[in-house]
Amino acid sequence: MLTNDQLDRFDRENFFHPSTHLAQHARGESPSRIVKTAKGVFIEDRDGKKLLDGFGGLYCVNVGYGRESIIEAIADQAKELAYYHAYAGHGTEASINLAKMVMDRAPDHMSKVYFGLSGSDANETNIKLVWYYNNILGRPEKKKIISRRRGYHGSGLMTGSLTGLPGFQKKFDLPLDRILHTEAPYYFRRDDLSMSEADFVSHCVDELEVMIAREGADTIAAFIGEPVLGTGGIVPPPAGYWEAISAVLEKHDIMLIADEVVTGFGRLGTMFGSEHYGLKPDLITIAKGLTSAYAPLSGSIVSEKMWKVLEQGTDENGPIGHGWTYSAHPIGAAAGIANLKLIDELNLVQNAGETGAYLRHTMKEAIGDHPHVGDIRGEGMLMAVEFVKDKADRTFFEASDKMGYKLAAALLSEGVIARAMPEGDILGYAPPLCLTREEADQIVNATHKAVTTVL
Ligand code: PLP
Repeated sequence: MLTNDQLDRFDRENFFHPSTHLAQHARGESPSRIVKTAKGVFIEDRDGKKLLDGFGGLYCVNVGYGRESIIEAIADQAKELAYYHAYAGHGTEASINLAKMVMDRAPDHMSKVYFGLSGSDANETNIKLVWYYNNILGRPEKKKIISRRRGYHGSGLMTGSLTGLPGFQKKFDLPLDRILHTEAPYYFRRDDLSMSEADFVSHCVDELEVMIAREGADTIAAFIGEPVLGTGGIVPPPAGYWEAISAVLEKHDIMLIADEVVTGFGRLGTMFGSEHYGLKPDLITIAKGLTSAYAPLSGSIVSEKMWKVLEQGTDENGPIGHGWTYSAHPIGAAAGIANLKLIDELNLVQNAGETGAYLRHTMKEAIGDHPHVGDIRGEGMLMAVEFVKDKADRTFFEASDKMGYKLAAALLSEGVIARAMPEGDILGYAPPLCLTREEADQIVNATHKAVTTVL
């Protein structure tokens, strides 16, 4: 076993961490943590410090840590067959079984699931499928993709471009030429404070309509959106938003990609966010909750309408030239099967709805009236607390105040992890869906202490 000193040194000398301030990390200035073990909703670091993981890793450990049935399923699969590929119609019992379980849970109009490894690669797949689809239908000009400001869709070339958060694009020269960004459905951050929620929805719709008219509907292939904005601030849409946007997309024959990497498999208290908001997507992106992060696996769920065209495409052009070596990896599939079974057995979708509502309610009771708490919002087991400098005129702290990070650090010293969301002073909470009321109370009490200490 490595000593703590060795771990620190080897880490700094060898490990290129994702989404990290590299220079600060190298200097030992960043608040990094080496995690040793975890059980339920708690993680334990190498120094034996136990923390309630209020963000479920990166909102992915949906069934909680240390689940024996998933661990055994992975071990059994590795012993029987650690790998075989899925190209040219090959497969494994695990990958076929998981495909059936996913499609049994997906909305009725969906047809097949393509398996990848991460949310980013699943969205890359989606964009390629949308372009392929329009080429097969003989409309080669219909290729632009509309995304939203503050949307998060991954870190690949295309998905990093779809992402509408400047911090993920800065200095990368991403290929933004086929991408359009429209308004985020973020009512709390509306420019005009006198605007009603209904007027704000009309404003979002108007901006979309103007964009479509300007670009020409025959140049726009798809609209991608998370049912609830995630990394952009954990923002449920205002009432009526998705109905109004869906109607515009339908009118202009623009496909809808529901990015359910966070919302898929129960987080909002329904199996899919599409179900929650009555969406009828052409593609659904799934990842995190598919395996609860016990193994990397993602997916693109394709509608029946799209599937028919994809089949036609291969009759005309030969096999579809898209795949990863590890598509439908059997160990990921075995983890997915055991994970979905557990979600059913433990009634976690229902618990996400009920305990999530309790968490929001108790948080509002505890800190809702605090002068610097501007907004407490969420859906199911997904919640944000947004802080303001002044509540009356909704002014924000300066970015240089780093208020979100200070609050997250104070919360950590109270034994709870929440995520300082990348843009704005927002604490994000996305605990495992198995959270109990007692654990919810612990999150609220720790947040109350952190807020009263810092502010
Ligand atoms: N889409 C959404 C909505 C996400 O939240 C994320 C990651 O947080 C991704 C896509 C990218 O997934 P991954 O990090 O697995 O590539």
